[in-house]
Amino acid sequence: MTGDFVEDRLKPADVRKYLRHIDGCEACRSEAETYFLLDRVRLSLDQDPAKANYDFKGAFSRELAAKKHTLHMISFFRLLSIVLLLAAVGVLVWLFFFSGYFK
Ligand SMILES: [Zn+2]
Repeated sequence: MTGDFVEDRLKPADVRKYLRHIDGCEACRSEAETYFLLDRVRLSLDQDPAKANYDFKGAFSRELAAKKHTLHMISFFRLLSIVLLLAAVGVLVWLFFFSGYFK
């Protein structure tokens, strides 16, 4: 699962579970950080040396923060879509039954 997490192949619900786990499990967090850093080094070796970013200090923490931010945004937009859907249903119900619009 660590490889899937690092290479962004998990569904948001699985990312959430994995993040919750590594928040409390130092062994898995350390494994994930090592895998992440090796992956970043591998990617940087494939890049043009003039453009590659070799600043790996704090990169794993930034990656975790970015993933958490993405999960927050997904939750926010899910909630927003539910609120908008309920508002649309409310407007339709009002139009049909209370406004006299369809009489
Ligand atoms: Zn663990």
